[in-house]
Amino acid sequence: MATELDHDCPNCGEERNFYRTAATSLHLGLKTKWSCPECDYGFIRIGGDITSATA
Ligand SMILES: [Zn+2]
Repeated sequence: MATELDHDCPNCGEERNFYRTAATSLHLGLKTKWSCPECDYGFIRIGGDITSATA
């Protein structure tokens, strides 16, 4: 699985190459945490869906 992900960062206001900080297997699918390399913005994905954002 990829450990980098191009995604728009609402904090930076442009696309960043997010890096994966954690991965946990759930019955719903793989839960992964991603962080912006330029600021503290991060979000969580379960399977292919972004489920929540953390500051
Ligand atoms: Zn950012």
